[in-house]
Amino acid sequence: MSIAKVIVDVPAKQTDRPFDYLIPEHLEEVIQPGMRVIVPFGPRKVQGFVESVEETSSFKSLKKVIEPMDVVPVLNEELLLLGDWLSKTTLCYKISAYQAMLPPALKAKYERKLKLVSENANFMLPDGLEQLFASEPSVLWEEAVKFASIHAIQKLVKEGIAEVHYEVQSKGKKKTTKHIIPLMSAEEMLIYAESLAKQASKQKQVIEFFIHNREPIEQRQLLERLNISSSAVKGLVERQVLAEKNLEIYRDPYEQRQFAKTEPLPLTGEQSTAIAPIHASISNDKHEVFLLYGVTGSGKTEVYLQSIQNVLEKGEEAIVLVPEIALTPQMVNRFKGRFGDQVAVLHSGLSVGEKYDEWRKIQRKEVKVVVGARSAIFAPFENLGIIIIDEEHEMTYKQEENPRYHARDAAIERGKIHNCPVVLGSATPALESFARAQKGVYTLLSLPSRMNNRPLPEVEIVDMREELKEGNRSMFSRVLLEKLKDRMEKQEQTVLFLNKRGHSSFVMCRDCGYVVKCPHCDISLTYHRYSNQMKCHYCGYEDQTPLQCPECNSEHIRYFGTGTQKVEEELTKVIPEAKVIRMDVDTTSRKGSHEKLLKEFQDGNADILLGTQMIAKGLDFPRITLVGVLSADTMLHLPDFRSSEKTFQLLTQVSGRAGRHELAGEVIFQTYTPEHYSIELASQQDYDRFYQSEMMIRRNHSYPPYYYITLITVSHEELMKTVAVTEQITKVVRHKLSPKTVVLGPVASPISRIKNRYRYQCLIKYKQEPNLKEVLKSILDHYQGEISSNGLQISIDVNPYILM
Ligand code: ADP
Ligand code: ZN
Ligand code: ZN
Repeated sequence: MSIAKVIVDVPAKQTDRPFDYLIPEHLEEVIQPGMRVIVPFGPRKVQGFVESVEETSSFKSLKKVIEPMDVVPVLNEELLLLGDWLSKTTLCYKISAYQAMLPPALKAKYERKLKLVSENANFMLPDGLEQLFASEPSVLWEEAVKFASIHAIQKLVKEGIAEVHYEVQSKGKKKTTKHIIPLMSAEEMLIYAESLAKQASKQKQVIEFFIHNREPIEQRQLLERLNISSSAVKGLVERQVLAEKNLEIYRDPYEQRQFAKTEPLPLTGEQSTAIAPIHASISNDKHEVFLLYGVTGSGKTEVYLQSIQNVLEKGEEAIVLVPEIALTPQMVNRFKGRFGDQVAVLHSGLSVGEKYDEWRKIQRKEVKVVVGARSAIFAPFENLGIIIIDEEHEMTYKQEENPRYHARDAAIERGKIHNCPVVLGSATPALESFARAQKGVYTLLSLPSRMNNRPLPEVEIVDMREELKEGNRSMFSRVLLEKLKDRMEKQEQTVLFLNKRGHSSFVMCRDCGYVVKCPHCDISLTYHRYSNQMKCHYCGYEDQTPLQCPECNSEHIRYFGTGTQKVEEELTKVIPEAKVIRMDVDTTSRKGSHEKLLKEFQDGNADILLGTQMIAKGLDFPRITLVGVLSADTMLHLPDFRSSEKTFQLLTQVSGRAGRHELAGEVIFQTYTPEHYSIELASQQDYDRFYQSEMMIRRNHSYPPYYYITLITVSHEELMKTVAVTEQITKVVRHKLSPKTVVLGPVASPISRIKNRYRYQCLIKYKQEPNLKEVLKSILDHYQGEISSNGLQISIDVNPYILM
């Protein structure tokens, strides 16, 4: 008797444990841990994950597994363990943890199909399938199982004869192209070639190719490679030496581009010193966390590349995480250039199908390296040899919905399981990481100088209050304007950076200071110029801009603040001849536009690149010699204990865009608070002093890294209910945790209402609290009823990055 222990897709407290199901006899050899199955659950059929297969069950009458959804496991043993860890550390249900690790194609409703991918004469297809496939190479799963046992299908998949595919219903257009495949064996071809006339040299060339290459090849590629026309191939097809066949190709989003192959560079002394301990950890199969701390342009990426090479030579695999916005073609090129098609790329710009294709390459071990954003940390490799997180301080590594995990933590957990190194790289490490390196928990590796000792750019701080006093009301200081013009003359390029985070363009009354807010959420509405409307970024509420102030009836109510559009307009007024490329969410929302705009700038088709956060990273163009930050301090005013750290990191990052090559760079920070230490120290690129100042403040206020924090946010439509629940929770937490732990609350959240729901919070600061997870779990359990019945929401964020 075989029993499957199944985690069912019913996210609730009562179902957050494995249920036993009997595996029917015909599926006994099919079902394995890590597969998804359909099982009866009450009156319904639900999906679930097989956690393990066992021989006995303590229950008497068991229901049976209905059918498997996969023929090969979608989660390997290690990922099942990792799911367990995820659910424990982030307090999410196991089913949510498992689902978070899969590509979206395996999550939602997609059509499942079985597809014939190779015709192996030595392998007999089951009769019915043979006929099905004769008319179409891909058949609905439901059809296929009518003609063949699941066991037989599983065998086909394992042999590489067939594959399971998921297609979005309706728009399931498969991408197929004409391929050429060899029909004759290599020996037969050799004999055939000798029978050809001397003039048929092109045909001989093609035959020569197929004697050595027995795989299908795209016709387009074949013609390109042999530099011949299609007629030579046609002749051979007519003679049945070759055949044409439409085959699906991987929708590789980078396929069109050529990747110049790069070779490892001889390392500098600093790089060699930094890489040695990583190599040691790789060859000793020893888990260790390294913090690679090196200014921008110090050669960190080359260290990553050569560490990966070391891992590949050992026959193991590598994961490289890059922040989403830095996952530019430039970045990807560096990995593809070195490791070619051993690299898979995973990022949010891919369609569901493309993501699935990339994931499948990993699962089928067709690639050895994955470069991707946060969720790529779950790449289903089985022989991980290294995990690298570039720009490790970036907030995007924290997922802000369930499961609220941090990719850094998940990386370290996987590194432990695989006994492999984890390398965290940054020019401005997160305070938490640097503190751990100081304490020896991580091993600190430094790259203190830029390549070829190129100097860091000069930074000048401009006090915008002085500009105003001197009568300059424009958003450009005089010195910035002067330098902009200078660069135009020299035909060099400028990057203008506008920090949009925490700096929306709102509508304000100049007379009484009234700001138009969303009636449902407690934030100011953002002004959209083209539609002359105001919009709430949380709930989508829209309204016309008022002509009169609702408070004092003044007509001096208008749009205030600066958006990129506005800057662009101003710019064309003061320097009409400037060619400007604007990059923000509006101009880059279409697929591929991001890349296109960057390419245009790189090709020198514009003088100025104007943009938001998305241009702060990864740009590496030789002609950029000036970087202007229009308002360096906007982020300082967020209600967040990390606001200084974020400001410092961003400013340092932006400055790094200038003067990365032969031409020296200059940077200008415009600010209303020039004396703030994070601006001052960013201008000197002095991370070490920033670290010291900031650590002092963190210690004085009991914030991370001295304390851990956990944030509980309660929300409900009724204010009284929200307050009451938060109060109760705060009381329980205070009572159950140690007296040394600080419990703040209940207080209204910085954004006290979203979509008509009031929000209150309780903040817990602690050093050691072994029972915390249990206490929190019991709180969630206690309110389970109200959460499902009366719309109460309780979110628990362990180590939160957004405190609003
Ligand atoms: P980081 O990742 O720290 O910003 P990069 O790896 O991008 O730095 O290196 C900056 C520049 O220096 C790149 O153009 C890179 O090709 C070059 N570079 C890196 N290592 C070497 C080396 N050992 N010899 C010569 N050039 C190098
Ligand atoms: Zn007013
Ligand atoms: Zn709103």
